[in-house]
Amino acid sequence: MAVDFSNAVKTDEGVQVNGVVMNPIVEKCEGCERIKEFEGGKYCGSYPQPETKWRLGNCNFATHTKATAKGKAKVNPLKASKRAAKGR
Ligand code: SF4
Repeated sequence: MAVDFSNAVKTDEGVQVNGVVMNPIVEKCEGCERIKEFEGGKYCGSYPQPETKWRLGNCNFATHTKATAKGKAKVNPLKASKRAAKGR
């Protein structure tokens, strides 16, 4: 469900859309296509509290995380430490 920023208003509590306070995006959101700019701030077009989307891992709405995973070889820390232990 996309947030319609044409209804956004600036209040003392922050930017609100239809009465819902929109928190600014977090660092990990950078690069996501769902970011919307409003009054100089950046907000998520899909989720009012971006920070909570990242608290338990990757945001499941993010458009940019799969792309970055593709480019880099992912290191599984558990496997890497097992490999290191075998080599000893
Ligand atoms: S969809 Fe997720 S990653 Fe993208 S801006 Fe919103 S909270 Fe951030």
